[in-house]
Amino acid sequence: MDPNAHAVALACKGFLDDDEGRRLHDLGRECAPLGPVVEIGSYCGKSTVYLGSGVKAAGGLLLCVDHHRGSEEHQVGEEYHDADLFDARVGRLDSLPELRRTLHLAGLDDTAIPVVAPSPVAARFVVGDLGMVFIDGGHSHAAAHADYESWSGKIARGGVLAIHDLFPDPNDGGQAPIEIYRRALALGLFEELPGTKTLGVLRRR
Ligand code: SAH
Ligand code: MG
Repeated sequence: MDPNAHAVALACKGFLDDDEGRRLHDLGRECAPLGPVVEIGSYCGKSTVYLGSGVKAAGGLLLCVDHHRGSEEHQVGEEYHDADLFDARVGRLDSLPELRRTLHLAGLDDTAIPVVAPSPVAARFVVGDLGMVFIDGGHSHAAAHADYESWSGKIARGGVLAIHDLFPDPNDGGQAPIEIYRRALALGLFEELPGTKTLGVLRRR
């Protein structure tokens, strides 16, 4: 991975382990030749930089989808609220300025293209044959299943569906991400590849 981009990723606010990030980088580089890569849930850009620098190495494009208003756990008074990201004039969170700063510092302005919209709305613009989809958006049952339903059918044969925050033991974390992972497997359209920590990886048959 490009050392400058790696330093930017490590310094960026966010919720991604370095091993998971390096795996995203490798998957992005491998899948970008198949078609555009989509990330759901960019926040301040940590995962975006890992994935985007892999995509850039392959000469591909990454669409970074996020409404930038935060998930449930980022709202005022919740566990992962960050007051520095609060836009007082609007009364809502806004992580877009931080994402833009991150992408610029990492040299990804021409590779990683932010799309500011709820995931199912953004999906309506995208026809398909995607090289890879990485889902790391809202972790409510409704949000995660909507992400799955909106995007999983748009992945090209041989492309990858990666899902973050898989916790086989419910005591370790919310179950919505692993529910959609199992849903994809149950259909028989995807085969399981080895995961990395809480990152699950499936390949479209
Ligand atoms: N991948 C990031 C962390 C993402 S946190 C990292 O590496 O640090 C989850 C993000 O998903 C938040 O920024 C939130 O705004 C976004 N999000 C949640 N639900 C969404 C939805 N339905 N559509 C678009 N973005 C959503
Ligand atoms: Mg996550």
